[in-house]
Formats: sequence, C-alpha cells, structure tokens
Amino acid sequence: MDFSLSEEHEAIRQVAREFAEKKLVPRAGEFDRTGQIDFALVREMGEAGFLGITVPEQYGGAGLDTLSYTIVLEELGHGCASHCTIVGAHNSLFAHPLLCFGTEEQKRFYLPPICSGEKFGSFSLSEPNAGSDAAAIEATAVPDGDHFVLNGNKIFVTNGAFADYIIVMAKTDKSQGWRGITAFIVHKDTPGFSVGHIEEKLGLHASPTTELIFQDLRLPKTNILGKVGEGFKVAMESLNSGRISVGAHSLGLAGRALYLALKYSKERKQFGQPISSFQMIQAHLANMHCRLAASRLLVYEASWRKDKGLDYATHAATAKLVASEMATYVTHRAIQVLGGYGYLRDYEVERLYREARVTELYEGTSEIQRLVIARDLIKHS
Ligand SMILES: Cc1cc2nc3c(=O)[nH]c(=O)nc-3n(C[C@H](O)[C@H](O)[C@H](O)COP(=O)(O)OP(=O)(O)OC[C@H]3O[C@@H](n4cnc5c(N)ncnc54)[C@H](O)[C@@H]3O)c2cc1C
Repeated sequence: MDFSLSEEHEAIRQVAREFAEKKLVPRAGEFDRTGQIDFALVREMGEAGFLGITVPEQYGGAGLDTLSYTIVLEELGHGCASHCTIVGAHNSLFAHPLLCFGTEEQKRFYLPPICSGEKFGSFSLSEPNAGSDAAAIEATAVPDGDHFVLNGNKIFVTNGAFADYIIVMAKTDKSQGWRGITAFIVHKDTPGFSVGHIEEKLGLHASPTTELIFQDLRLPKTNILGKVGEGFKVAMESLNSGRISVGAHSLGLAGRALYLALKYSKERKQFGQPISSFQMIQAHLANMHCRLAASRLLVYEASWRKDKGLDYATHAATAKLVASEMATYVTHRAIQVLGGYGYLRDYEVERLYREARVTELYEGTSEIQRLVIARDLIKHS
C-alpha cells in the first residue's frame, strides 16, 4: 500500500491551491455577504480545467481521474463553499451522468461548452414531497408522438437559477415506482420552463438554490438521458459520485477551519501566554486534526475505488457521512478555539461553521448514508 500522491496529483493540488488562495479566499466573505456569483471567476475555473475535470479531453475536459477531482474540490473548499458547490454540482451531477449514460451525440453536444464554462449544468430530482424518498417524485413526462410532455415542480436545485441544461427526473410510468422514472435533459430556453422561488439559506449564499417549474414542456425523445425507466439508476450514479465531492468539499472546509484555529491559537495571548500552550486548546486542535486526517483517507479511498472501476457506492456513502460530520465538528471546535471572536462575522470561522452544515444534508442526509452503509453491511454479513 502506498499513501503518497503522484507528482501529477501534487501538481494538480498546487494549481487548485494557488487558484483558491488568490481568487477565492480573499473574496469568500464578500460572496457570503452579497450572494453574488462571479461568473468571470467561474469561467476562469473552466479555463483551469475545473469544470470538466474527469471528462475526457476529446469532449473538452481535463481528462483527469477522480482523485484529481477530489483534490481540486478539497482545495476549492478551502476557498469558497459557494463556488466549490457550483463546481461540484456541475461536475458530479451534470457532467458525470452525461458521461455515464449519454449517447455519443449528447456527449459531443453538451460536454464541450459545459467544460469550458460557456454553459452550465444542473440536476433536478428533489420535489416538495420527495426528498430522501426520491422514488416518490410526482413530476410526469407523458409520451406524445416524437416528444414527451413534462409537468412538475422541482425544488432545491443547485445551479438551477442560471443553468442552461438541467437533468430532470420524471415519472414516465407511475405504476412502476422507481422503475418508472426517466431522466431528461431540459434546455432552459424551452417554452414551459421557468425558475421559481430562490431560497434564502444559512450558508452557500452565492450558490443559488431554486425551485424549477415545468409546465407542458415538450421534450424531443432525443433528450432522454439513458433509457426510458432508467432514471433512478442515473440519479443514484450521480449521487454516488456527488457524495465523493461533498466529502472532498468537507475536507476543504475543515482544513481551512483547522488552519485558522491553529494560527489564532499561536497569536492570541491570555494569562500571559499564547492559548496554544494550554493543553485543553491543544486537545481541540489534535482532535480536529485526527478527524480530518481519518476522513481524508476515506474520501481518497472512495475516489481511488471509483478510478479502479471497483464498486464504490458504500465507500462514497461512508466517506460522505464521516467527512461531513467531521466538517461540522471541526468548524464548531474552531469557533471554540477562537472564543467569542469565533462567533463574529469578521472572523472567517463563523462562516465556515454555517457553510459546513449543509454537507450533512445534500446528496443524501447523514441518516440516508447510514441506511446505505447498514444495508450493505447486513447484505454482506
Ligand atoms: C443547499 C441545498 C442544495 C441542494 N441541491 C440539490 C440539487 O441540486 N438537486 C436536487 O435534486 N436536490 C438538491 N438538494 C436537496 C437535498 O438532496 C435534499 O434536501 C435531501 O435529499 C433531503 O431531503 P429533504 O430535505 O426533503 O428531507 P426529508 O427527506 O424530508 O428528511 C427529513 C429528515 O428525515 C430523515 N429521514 C428521511 N427518511 C428517512 C429514513 N428512511 N430513515 C431515517 N431518517 C429518514 C432525514 O435524514 C432528515 O433528517 C439540495 C438541498 C440543499 C439544502
């Protein structure tokens, strides 16, 4: 077993770290306050290859492996949670299912502009009555000649406010439960499409989360992603891959919080000495480090398994569960190390604490990850 990263992976980390340090870290507070995305910056991420990291070069991507993707998201996660989420959803929830289930024609049409940042993608599964129970979706797509007619209301769509293309799950056969779901690619300029309410949230202020409305929207059959009735499979593969990205994002958030807590503990003096000399502060720092280091191994292992073509769904769930709960813990402890200052907007850990919370919710809650893990344990015991 070799735990060292290749020179190529180290070089990718360096590129992503420099980008995050120069372009995201100095502006993350501004993004949080204004809730504005900097699209020029997102396009720069496209130029750097971050918008199609695992997409083969023939489709305009960077042609890298999942571990590279994980490393990039970890570094972007240090910088800005909103922009990291935009990139994660774009890669894992749009480019990845396109690669796995798209026809050659679809890949050639959608992937190049997605990878360059000329166009944006999003993924729309959740509905008011279907969150964890994704098979309960009520949106319908009814065949009509060469088309399907889509009707339904979706919620919680990351990138939905500005995406050009949206992967939408709808029931094509209500009698078949999860087997009756089909995935479609919707273009935002199609009549019958509209963006609804934009949610106000605890964090991720520059990553809009929106309602999408589909009213008698006509979709050519060529816009089906995968096969009719394969939509649940498309959704699960997207979420499995997305769970690795949420794990990576969690590493970045926590890494930044630990860095800030360490720095502050060496600068802040009480009782005539730096607080880092107090053993209880040292215990906080050591606990934060241990959980972060353990989570990193799980996230990297899940990435490695995916790259090797091994079954990775349970590993992705494990990595996501442990890393997201770790990020909540580490950002919480970081506030403790900073004392009252940690609670103030002027200190970055306050924002990191808010941003970390969502990692336990999206792409499947912690409870759902536990269900996935326990089912696999029971099946193989
Ligand atoms: C910022 C943000 C961005 C998002 N982006 C997207 C996106 O791009 N696309 C998209 O489709 N969705 C997106 N989501 C939706 C997200 O995936 C759902 O919020 C999540 O799956 C949980 O669904 P829910 O909120 O309806 O909670 P519910 O399913 O109603 O769950 C409520 C509680 O019950 C628990 N629970 C539910 N079922 C079980 C069970 N069987 N056993 C034990 N406990 C259970 C849950 O764990 C949770 O604690 C996003 C959400 C957020 C907050």
